[in-house]
Amino acid sequence: MTRKYNFSAGPAALPEDVLFRAQSELLDWQGQGLSVMEMSHRSPEYVSVAKKAESDLRELMNIPDNYQVLFMQGGATSQFSMIPMNLMGNNVSADYINTGDWSSKAIKEAKRYIQVNVAGSSEDSNFTAVPAQDELQLDSNAAYVHYTPNETIRGVEFDYIPETGDVPLVADMSSNILSGPIDVSRFGMIYAGAQKNIGPAGLTVVIIRDDLLQAPVDKTPTLFSYKAIADADSMLNTPPTFGWYLAGLVFEWLQAQGGVPAMDKLNDLKASKLYSYIDNSDFYTNPVDIAVRSRMNVPFILAKPELDKLFLTEATSAGLLNLAGHRSVGGMRASIYNAVPEAAVDALIEFMQDFAVTHG
Ligand code: PMP
Repeated sequence: MTRKYNFSAGPAALPEDVLFRAQSELLDWQGQGLSVMEMSHRSPEYVSVAKKAESDLRELMNIPDNYQVLFMQGGATSQFSMIPMNLMGNNVSADYINTGDWSSKAIKEAKRYIQVNVAGSSEDSNFTAVPAQDELQLDSNAAYVHYTPNETIRGVEFDYIPETGDVPLVADMSSNILSGPIDVSRFGMIYAGAQKNIGPAGLTVVIIRDDLLQAPVDKTPTLFSYKAIADADSMLNTPPTFGWYLAGLVFEWLQAQGGVPAMDKLNDLKASKLYSYIDNSDFYTNPVDIAVRSRMNVPFILAKPELDKLFLTEATSAGLLNLAGHRSVGGMRASIYNAVPEAAVDALIEFMQDFAVTHG
């Protein structure tokens, strides 16, 4: 068996140790004679798996007691509509910060339910920057402020947490959750699709402050109500049991690595190696404002775009997978989430060097 280096933006690389552990437990979970996939979600055995995953996540992120952790389905995209449905209350509008493709999608969906005020945007810079705090035009009557701390496609990551006063801050952390320490108490709600830093696709994690668990707008499906899900401990219906279990294994793996602070250090190291190589090269460029370059998603373009296809073919032959940029922007993108080891980044840089020498 040869495992290759996987730079996919998501579903993304999982820690090898986690895959081995899941493999070893697959047919017979802890002597029960069945796989975790085949268990009732209401069995005491499965409930213990689910609860352990939640408490490990709480510990990793230092989640205060007045926040609920929900394990849901539907991806981050479902949250784009669930957020206004659940958080609008009697308010007429919500503030959104637009820093790229994912925040734009969140805005488009929210407009179906609530008046959206774009409180800040980096569209003018073709989404290579983020608006500064003093440029945000926040409305103190907004139901909430939504932003995307890390834009996965163009590789732009906020270098600050917006200050929103009494208005709850909602963050789509799909592509940077658990990549570095954050103060959860600054947020009303955090959500993330699992398929990057948490586990397999099909699971979505929501962290929400108790006071925001209010009745959603009329006719909201029960399964879309945060309150109903929280009241049922995320088991209002059958949850994505295998994804939840695997997320739990990733959380245990993170703890064994030294937790989020250790990841933070490693992510700094991996990203700075790759960006400094790109910046010192005549052949590769990254257009993003240095202060807000993503540590998770590193897009770069070749001086000769006609070589894109060749780059990807040769990279794949060299065991470096999934380096194509998002279909909407082209070029390349290396996603270097928690589970991508430093050795993968070293191998990528070596390959990029060789490619530039041969074809540059
Ligand atoms: N938000 C961000 C920041 C993302 O990166 C993605 C997926 N790449 C999404 C939302 C959409 O997630 P999903 O496919 O889980 O709906």
